[in-house]
Amino acid sequence: MQRLPIHSSSIGVTFLGTASAMPSSTRNHSALALRLGSDVWLFDCGEATQHQIQKSTVKMGKIEKIFITHTHGDHIFGLLPVLAGCLNGAGGTAEGVDDPRTQVNLDEPPLEIYGPLGTRAYIRNGLKFTHTLFGRPFVVHELRFLSDPDTRDYTELPLHAAELPSGRNIPQIDGVWADVYKDEVVSVSAAPIMHSVPCVGYVVTEGPVPGKIDAKKYLPDIKRNKAPMSVMRTLQEGKSVELADGTVLQGPPRRNGRKITILGDTYDPSPVAPLAQDTDLLIHEATNAHLPNVDPHTKETDTYETVQDRAISRGHSTPQMAGLFAKRIGAKRLVLNHFSSRYPGDDHVEPSSKLIMDAIANLAAAEYGDLVLCARDLMTVEVTLPTS
Ligand SMILES: [Zn+2]
Ligand SMILES: [Zn+2]
Repeated sequence: MQRLPIHSSSIGVTFLGTASAMPSSTRNHSALALRLGSDVWLFDCGEATQHQIQKSTVKMGKIEKIFITHTHGDHIFGLLPVLAGCLNGAGGTAEGVDDPRTQVNLDEPPLEIYGPLGTRAYIRNGLKFTHTLFGRPFVVHELRFLSDPDTRDYTELPLHAAELPSGRNIPQIDGVWADVYKDEVVSVSAAPIMHSVPCVGYVVTEGPVPGKIDAKKYLPDIKRNKAPMSVMRTLQEGKSVELADGTVLQGPPRRNGRKITILGDTYDPSPVAPLAQDTDLLIHEATNAHLPNVDPHTKETDTYETVQDRAISRGHSTPQMAGLFAKRIGAKRLVLNHFSSRYPGDDHVEPSSKLIMDAIANLAAAEYGDLVLCARDLMTVEVTLPTS
């Protein structure tokens, strides 16, 4: 299935879950949906992601790919229910009863899942021991770290009935996984980021898009030659056109498309920095924050340093660390996620929550040098094409 070019349509990110270790009534576990035109790709799939999708404008039937940053439960526990929802999952039938869902329709394109070693074993074991059958196929590609033990999977189980054997084990080359997915309009690369377990940062890059056309520049020549206005469409594509009197018009050069960087949990995402340079949108975790005079639960003995030390020791970041990284890579926009359950995600309606989330955003903004947004569940951020 090939989608239309996305450069003429919108790219948006909908946060489905923004909590760290513990979910709360206002924050679900990690997941977000990237909308590329009419397609949807999920990044992480924490517990109850399917419920969050149902509460959002994201369409289950449009999900084509799922990217897992790491196999901590708060990022993957919701994957199997989402797969069952997307792939006509069924629990089988009584003996002798036909159920069309037990036949996998291989004419349907597979749902593609990407993740580190363990993703395939988690899916295969989870499906096997819950007797889950699918009507549509899926395939699992693993991004293998240099430190991964060998080329085997973490499971001796055979392929699931709906699992295609074309799942790749993608080796890390020169420190990155380049173009793990690529088509005519978009590509995905990834790199390891530092956390307490193997963890991946993903960079989604739109291919070059048509340049900005200045119609006034071309109109006199087009009118003089009585050329059809379709010439303008050809020029818009960056091509050249020769008119009847020999005048050659050259369309504007193509320009870079959008770049979106989605990080998993991290205390230092440096290895992804070269891929993420000048990203239009950086999504970075900010699990721990020191908020004296704002957060009533602040320990008296805590300082910015002790909170940062604690965050790093658990593999996480403070807002300041996120702000510094955003500045370092020239990110055009920074959105924070993966917050402690101490910080409710109802800041749009609850002034005391807003006070806290504003304080977190300000800590990051002081290092970043620009406005910072704190994500809340079901919030959507649009990524527009650069103006030049
Ligand atoms: Zn997490
Ligand atoms: Zn984690």
